Amino acid sequence: MRVVVTGGLGFIGSALIRWILDTQPDVDVINLDCQTYAGNPANLIGYEKSPRYRWVEAKIQDADAVSTLLASESVDAIVNCAAESHVDRSIADPEPFISTNVLGTEVLLHYGRRYGVGKYLQMSTDEVYGSLGSDGFFTEESPLDPSSPYSASKASADLLVLAHHHTYAQNVVITRCSNNYGPYQYPEKLIPLFITNGVEGKPWPLYGDGNNIRDWIYVMDHVEAVWEVLTRGQAGRVYNVGARNEHSNREVALELLRQMELPETVIVPVDDRLGHDRRYAIDPTRLETELGWHARHAWLSALDETVSWYRQHETWWKPLKTGEPPKI
Ligand code: NAD
Repeated sequence: MRVVVTGGLGFIGSALIRWILDTQPDVDVINLDCQTYAGNPANLIGYEKSPRYRWVEAKIQDADAVSTLLASESVDAIVNCAAESHVDRSIADPEPFISTNVLGTEVLLHYGRRYGVGKYLQMSTDEVYGSLGSDGFFTEESPLDPSSPYSASKASADLLVLAHHHTYAQNVVITRCSNNYGPYQYPEKLIPLFITNGVEGKPWPLYGDGNNIRDWIYVMDHVEAVWEVLTRGQAGRVYNVGARNEHSNREVALELLRQMELPETVIVPVDDRLGHDRRYAIDPTRLETELGWHARHAWLSALDETVSWYRQHETWWKPLKTGEPPKI
């Protein structure tokens, strides 16, 4: 089997590629990634020389590059992880989010269909459902109600994916996952930002009252869910991915302070993010009952492993924080 993974130099895409190369000996991977600020070849160190791996440096919205690739290779599946993924950047400048997340998805769907790619998986997000009140969960039937330019671009892409199934009977699936954490996450996101600031003796900026709730999942649980959905999911179906693990941002900060033995004075409240969603919570029952997937990593121990990883890999994250080019 040959799979194109887009965005494979990023946090989740690289975790997926490492997992495939480690555990699926009959699968070859082509990584289609244009290496934005969030893409880092060092995420695949040790894997880049595998005869089962190849990196093609191109944008997913580059129709010539995508059609050339799919015309010249026999590809069985596309897993689209490539995205502009940071909400704050989308508030500052939405345009790259529309170009990559919406147009890029359409280009992959279009040429995937033209060149007979058997299956297409769209890696989406729980943020397409908008914000919850203090109770209830997002199911796959929850209406799309995105709040930020980022989540609106992801919801738009989901609609295109489902339209391609409806119109052309294209074999597509969508995963909508909650907030990920783990090694190799770019240090602009909450958990790696706090850990790396903690190592550097810098303050931890906490948005608003700190009571925004997110549903956290370890990245390798997400990767395993993606593989189950890609290989056994029903065409045209959406699968929520979550670990039933809700915590407010303040609770996450306090747990990290405890693990890193730092005082509460490290936390510095900052003005809230514009349009900040209050609560996300995923109901992953469909994935659990239909495909037998369950999150396997416990929150406290996986968070502890994540802290240790960042402590041991300063050479990976320090250049990202100072704006130096990534080291391989
Ligand atoms: P990331 O920002 O770490 O990585 C994105 C990758 O995509 C980078 O390697 C970048 O170079 C590449 N890329 C960006 N634009 C591209 C383009 N136009 N063409 C080709 N490559 C391009 O993102 P991530 O956190 O790994 O997220 C991966 C996917 O998972 C995204 O679609 C995101 O919406 C989704 N998701 C993320 C989370 C999370 O908590 N991180 C949760 C749910 C869903």
